[in-house]
Amino acid sequence: MKQLSNELLEELIEDSLPYASEGAVRPVIPFYDETKKDILGITVWTGDASYHAGNTDMYVPMQSTAKIVTLMLALSDFGKDRVFEMVGMEPMGDFFNSISQLEQNHTDKPFNPMVNAGAIATSALVKGGNVEERFDRYMQFLRNITGNPHLEMNEDVYKAEKSNGARNRSLAYFLQSTGAMIMDPEEALDFYFRTNAVMMCTEDFARVGYFLANGGREPETNKRLIPPEHLRTVKSIMLTSGMYNSSGQFAVEVGFPLKSGVSGTMIGAVPGRMGIGIVGPAIDAKGNSTAGGALIKSLSQELGLNMFGVD
Ligand code: GLU
Repeated sequence: MKQLSNELLEELIEDSLPYASEGAVRPVIPFYDETKKDILGITVWTGDASYHAGNTDMYVPMQSTAKIVTLMLALSDFGKDRVFEMVGMEPMGDFFNSISQLEQNHTDKPFNPMVNAGAIATSALVKGGNVEERFDRYMQFLRNITGNPHLEMNEDVYKAEKSNGARNRSLAYFLQSTGAMIMDPEEALDFYFRTNAVMMCTEDFARVGYFLANGGREPETNKRLIPPEHLRTVKSIMLTSGMYNSSGQFAVEVGFPLKSGVSGTMIGAVPGRMGIGIVGPAIDAKGNSTAGGALIKSLSQELGLNMFGVD
């Protein structure tokens, strides 16, 4: 077993970066193009020290990593029973924006809060008088848990999410037809698009991971913001569904809760130990960073982080 250090992270970045060539950058994200392909950065936050290597300055949209923040808020606002009346807990095993799975589920609700339909349903479960208020609460919560008061949504990314949002709209209206959408679908979608467009860097992603890993405490005050029960729920669902339909493989090979986004981001929460933030924009066909995936697997191995046992 190795010790966590910047040197170790640099070595692992060097070994993992070649995997970027196996992926592609998602072109619908503004300012994402092939020049961003060979970027890889990591921050590991242990509560008293930050370790990092590679490109840690690039701010990228949260995309699907936003789903875990929305779920935390929905659980706080409505409680577990109500949230899981509207969305399931089971892995889907299909593409994250699948329409056919929604109909085949036969329960009238999306499989889980980590797929688009599920996240749109949980977006409707964040309290506030209108979308501005609800999104302000989201931003305030995110700034509190990362300890970064400067986080903002990027207007261009938001507009791109809206104009490329036909599929998400279809999901939202389908949910309305089955009764799994408790507000105007456009309101829920607007909130969802905004959350996807918030910009963060590896340090911010690592801080979200640490918040989940370490009892849901606000870094500044050590005050508990989310009860342990809800954190357990979020982490369990991250483990079973956080890496799109590669979640099983990552559970086996990494062995702790992760959530990825199509901007090539990844949040890792190693219970009681550390939060991990990765940015590596080249993604595979399922939506996960190719270099980031290689990096998190080797990090787990080198540091013995697998929750289910180490060699
Ligand atoms: N914003 C995109 C969508 O809603 C991608 C989300 C993701 O990272 O999976 O379809």
